[in-house]
Parts: sequence; C-alpha cells; structure tokens
Amino acid sequence: SQLTKDTSIIIVGAGTWGCSTTLHLGRRGYKNVTVLDPYPVPSPISAGDDVNKILEVANFEVVNSTEDGRKDESISDTLLNAATDGWLNDPIFAPHFHETGLIVAATTPEARATLNASNGPSVESGWVQLDDKEAFQATMPKGVLTGEFPGWQGWWLKKGAGWVHARKSMEGAAREAERLGVKFITGEISGRVTSLLYENGDVAGAITADGKQHRAGRTILAAGASAAQIFPMKNQLRATAWTLAHIKMTDEERKLYKDLPVLFNIERGFFMEPDADKGELKMCDEHPGYCNFSASTGLSEPFAMRQVPQESEARLRLLLRETMPHLAERPFSFARICWCADTPNRAFLISKHPEHASLVLAVGGSGHGFCHIPSIGGFIAEAMEGTLDPKLKESMRWRPETAVDRDWKDLQGRFGPEGSNRVMDFGEVKEWTNYGAKL
Ligand code: FAD
Repeated sequence: SQLTKDTSIIIVGAGTWGCSTTLHLGRRGYKNVTVLDPYPVPSPISAGDDVNKILEVANFEVVNSTEDGRKDESISDTLLNAATDGWLNDPIFAPHFHETGLIVAATTPEARATLNASNGPSVESGWVQLDDKEAFQATMPKGVLTGEFPGWQGWWLKKGAGWVHARKSMEGAAREAERLGVKFITGEISGRVTSLLYENGDVAGAITADGKQHRAGRTILAAGASAAQIFPMKNQLRATAWTLAHIKMTDEERKLYKDLPVLFNIERGFFMEPDADKGELKMCDEHPGYCNFSASTGLSEPFAMRQVPQESEARLRLLLRETMPHLAERPFSFARICWCADTPNRAFLISKHPEHASLVLAVGGSGHGFCHIPSIGGFIAEAMEGTLDPKLKESMRWRPETAVDRDWKDLQGRFGPEGSNRVMDFGEVKEWTNYGAKL
C-alpha cells in the first residue's frame, strides 16, 4: 500500500538505531509509529546501553566497499558528516558530545600499516604524530599516562573527535520521539518479537511473545545482533560480541581525568574519561570479537552476560599496564559482553527487502554504528520512503550474494594482541570473571 503520514509503522527493537528511527519518523510527521522491545530504553542488551562511545572521524577500517570491492570513502563521509552535524547542532544530541579529541595507535607493523593507510590520519588532515612514550604521555595531564607505551606509534587529533554519552543519547531520542507521539511497547512478553507477521508474501507487522499480532503497513527490523533470529538474514549478519569493564576512580582521579582525549590502540583497546555520574572509567579490550555458534542453526547467537572471559580481563590489564600501570591491579566495578552485528564488508544494511515490499531492514552496525545515532534514523526513513541517495542505497542494499560461503572467522579488518588476533568462540571460554552480578 502507498506510504502516507498515517501509515502504521512497527519498529522492531528500541536500541540505538530503533531510537534514532523513532525520532526521525516522529520529526517527519509520521503519526502512527509503534516500537517493540523486550526492555524499556535503554535496553540492557542494546549495544548502546553504555556510558560512552567513540565518535569516529577518519575511516581506516574495512568499510563501505562498492560492489566490485573498491572502497568508496564518499559513502562513509556522507554518513559521518550527517552524524557529526547532529552531534554539533541537534539539541537532542549536542549535550552528549564531548569534543575531547582522539588518539589512535598501533603496535605491530601489520596494524601500523592499516592505521597509516592512505585514508588514515595524516599531518595534512590535522593529526599530530606520536612516536614515543613521551609524546603519548604529553597528550594528557601529568600522572594519567604513566606507562611505557612499548612499541606504540600513533596519531592525535585534538578537535573534531571525541566521545559521546551513549545511554543518554538513546534516552534523549526516545523521550523526544514519545513527545512527538511515537508509542513504545516494552516488556519481556508484550514487547519481545517472536516472529514477523507474513501475509500474501509480504510482511504485515510483527508478533510478540504474548501472541499479539501488531499489524502495520511498514515494518522496520532494527533488532541489532538479534535480527537474524527474527528474520532470515542469509548470512549477512554475524552476531559478534566485544567486552568491556569499568573501574571505579577516586575523587582525585576523577578531577585529573576530566576531559581526556579518547585513547584507542587498535590492537589493545581503548578508554575514555570516567563518566561524570558514577566516576567509573570504561575500557574495552580490542580483538576481532567473540561468536557463539549454535550447533543447530550454524549462526552466532547472542546471549546476555554481565561478566567477561578472564582472558578479556587479562587483555584489559595489558592495556592498563602499557598506559596506566597505576590502575592495572584495580578490581573491576562492572563488566559485560556487548553484541553487535557485522555484515561481510562492515557497511550498514539499510534497505527495503526485495521480496517483502513492506519490510525495511535497519541492521549491520558492524562495530561502528553508535556514533550515527543522530542521523541514521533519517537514512532508515529514506530507505522506507524510497528516497535514499543512489550511492548510499547501493552500499547499504540487501546483498546476500556477498555472504555466500561466508567465512565466519574472517577478522573483518580487526586486530588483537598476540594470541587474540582471531575470532574467538564463547563455547571455548573456560573461565569468566566474577565481579558482582552475572546479569
Ligand atoms: P542495539 O543498540 O543492540 O539494539 C537492538 C535492540 O533490539 C535492543 O534494544 C534489544 O533489546 C532489541 N531486541 C532484541 N531482540 C528483540 C526482539 N526479539 N524483539 C524486539 N526487540 C528486540 N560504535 C561506535 O560508533 N563507536 C564506538 O565506540 C563503539 N563501541 C562499541 C563497543 C562495544 C563493546 C560494542 C559491542 C559496540 C560498539 N559500537 C560502537 C557499535 C555500536 O554500539 C552498534 O553498532 C550500535 O549500537 C548498534 O545499534 P543497533 O540499534 O543495531 O543495535
């Protein structure tokens, strides 16, 4: 049926992209939008339920290749420019952007080569080169970076990059969408989608765990890493988890650590300044990700866990020893695994389904989807309306042909410290941390 502002629209998933979509549809004047999620915003299983995320500026990852495999930087530029515009100018998001700068680094020759690829950081684009321990230490107040930075080489961008408060951005978008009339149905039973509703070869809405049919003229699937459990994605999504932990800072440390640039070594991990509310420093260890392959479906299936593998703790402590050894032994105050979904080329998948005309896919965050929250919902709306720019449409299309015989162990351009430079399997993890509650 023809799309009008009165068309009923169901969004499956009120995570990062779902919240952005509610906001953009509300702003565009759609009057009949309902979003379904097992949890109220912020969902504890959303990749965006986090204190902070990096707002990336330069794209030195394997993203956005065109059909013949060439990289097309203009696509990532278009998407990132739209996001940056939102972080700078949209009143919903601007308060949550902290333009504290970004340091990127690598250790081994292979990772350095990736970091220093032609589209990577350069002096011409405003980056400062960091070649030794003293150069790294000088990027932050004295007493923060006390480590030796063994083998580190990197770059520092002082402005135009930094971090965003993730949870608050999602909450802000959802609140504003609600004000604009979007309806949120949440709850394990009433909000959890168990299946889409199929009718005459098309998708006519979604069915929740209470058996209720939510009929809609358009259905937008934005269930992140869980999307392939709701709709067959033909191997285009690999649910992949990363690992994060917090450590509690003292009052003095909180003052010293305020407004720090983000520090990201693509083989070690990253951290940002402690969050202002609880004074906890969040860190991620870097690696090509963990999967959880199911014997019956062959797919990686997400599960929730508020702990990390002990090997992840060891990697986090390696990052700390190299950068801030004075914190290296401090216990974690929080740890969790966090699921995202990788497409084969890590470009987003935002498209109408070629066979189910009323279904719109909004998935494939591929590890870099958070910082697009101000703008991604607009592109998702355009995909639904059929007005996407042709280049974006091509890049973000439904593309099962790129996932035939998919190598599930592909590193997808990521690195990790020695021994962890591979896609790992939760099935092989023997020991988990034991910090506080498991869930
Ligand atoms: P999510 O935000 O995960 O949302 C999925 C939603 O679907 C959830 O709310 C969930 O409750 C809901 N759902 C699940 N099952 C169902 C169901 N059956 N029915 C209804 N709803 C359901 N990106 C950056 O830009 N910068 C970063 O620094 C960054 N760091 C990251 C660090 C980690 C550790 C991880 C894991 C990811 C990181 N990312 C980062 C990636 C980014 O977080 C994701 O790409 C993005 O959040 C994905 O958004 P999404 O809406 O697709 O998924």
